[in-house]
Amino acid sequence: MTPSEKALVPFVSVDHMMQLIHHIGVRNMLRGLASYIEDDFRRWELFDKTPRVASHSAEGVIELMPTSDGETYGFKYVNGHPKNTAEGLQTVTAFGLLADVDTGYPVLLTEMTMLTALRTAATSALVARTLAPRGAKTMAMIGNGAQSEFQSIAMQAIAGIDEVRLFDIDPAATAKCAANLAGSGLKITACNTAEDAIQGAQILTTCTADKAYATILTDNMVGAGVHINAIGGDCPGKTEVAPAILRRGDIFVEYPPQTRIEGDIQQLDDDHPVTEIWQVLTGQAQGRTSDKQITIFDSVGFAIEDFSALRFVRDRIEETEFYHPLDLLADPDDPRDLFGMLTRAKG
Ligand code: NAD
Repeated sequence: MTPSEKALVPFVSVDHMMQLIHHIGVRNMLRGLASYIEDDFRRWELFDKTPRVASHSAEGVIELMPTSDGETYGFKYVNGHPKNTAEGLQTVTAFGLLADVDTGYPVLLTEMTMLTALRTAATSALVARTLAPRGAKTMAMIGNGAQSEFQSIAMQAIAGIDEVRLFDIDPAATAKCAANLAGSGLKITACNTAEDAIQGAQILTTCTADKAYATILTDNMVGAGVHINAIGGDCPGKTEVAPAILRRGDIFVEYPPQTRIEGDIQQLDDDHPVTEIWQVLTGQAQGRTSDKQITIFDSVGFAIEDFSALRFVRDRIEETEFYHPLDLLADPDDPRDLFGMLTRAKG
C-alpha cells in the first residue's frame, strides 16, 4: 500500500542538508538565515513564546524549543553535553519539525545539528552588525569547537570582519579551526592565551563548552568599545563572562524569561536591566549609543531562530531534490477508519 501524497512529510537528512548548504553556498545560506531571522524578530509580538523545556542531568541537558506564528508551528529537539567530545560525540545535536497550524500536519522534518550551527552564527552576526563598534574588523574567537568556523564565516559574510584571533584550551581544536578557515579570506591568528586572542579585537566571541561557572573573560581583560558575543553560557550553572563585565556593559538578549534562567545574566539580579534584540531591530530600543560602550549579546538560542531556520529550509528545498518523502503519518482514506487501515495492511 502506498501512503497518500498529502501525508508524506519532506525529511531532510544530514546528507541532504549538507548538499543543500553547498548548493546555496555557506555564505549565502548564512545571509539568507540572518534575513529570515531578522524578519521573524521584526514580527516578534505575533509569536507564541515560552522558555525552552529543559531536562537536566548531571552531564548535560535535553531541550524542546517550541513556537508558533499562528500559521506555522515549529519545534527543535536539542541536547548540550560538554563531556561528549571526549567520547567522540558532539556536544550539541538537534533535529526539528515544522507543522501547519490549520491541520496540525507536519510539513517538514529535518536534521538541525548543521542548521543550528548556521542559525546560531547567523544570529550572532546579525546582532554584531547591529551592535558592534563601527568599522569592527577583528574578532577574538575563544572556544574553537564545532560552532567556531560557522561563527567566524558568518561574522565575515554579515558583519564585515576580516581577521579572527583563535584561542582554545585544546591546541588541537585551534589547529582544526585554523585549517578549516584557511582559504576563507579571513586572516587567521592562532593564540596561546585568551588575553592574546582579544588583542586588537572589537568583537569578542566566547563559545566554550564547560558545565561550570567558567570565567572566559575576566573583568581586567575587557576594555571600552567592544562587542561581546557570548554564546557558550546557555544553561543554569554554565557561564563565561565575569559578572563585573556584565555590570559595566549594556546587555542585549533574545527572550528575557529564558535568558535569565540560562544566560550569563543568571549571575545578576533578576531585575537587572536588559534590552531585547527584536526591539533594537524594530527601532523601539536603542542599540549602541557610544564608541566607548561595551555591548554584550548574552546569546542562549531562542525557538524563533530555529523557526526561521526551518522556514528557510522548507522554502529552499521546494525546488530541489534534497529531501526524502517520509511516511510519517498514518492517514487512512476514511479518516475514522484507522483500524481498517491496519487490518488491510495485513494483506
Ligand atoms: P564544542 O564542545 O565542539 O567546542 C567547545 C570548545 O570549547 C572545545 O574545543 C573546548 O576545548 C573549548 N573550551 C572549553 N573550555 C574552554 C576555556 N576555558 N577556554 C577556551 N576554550 C575552552 O562545543 P560547540 O558545539 O562549539 O558549542 C560551544 C558552546 O556553545 C556550547 O556550550 C554550546 O552549548 C553553546 N551553544 C550555544 C548556542 C546558542 O544559541 N547560544 C548554540 C549552539 C551551541
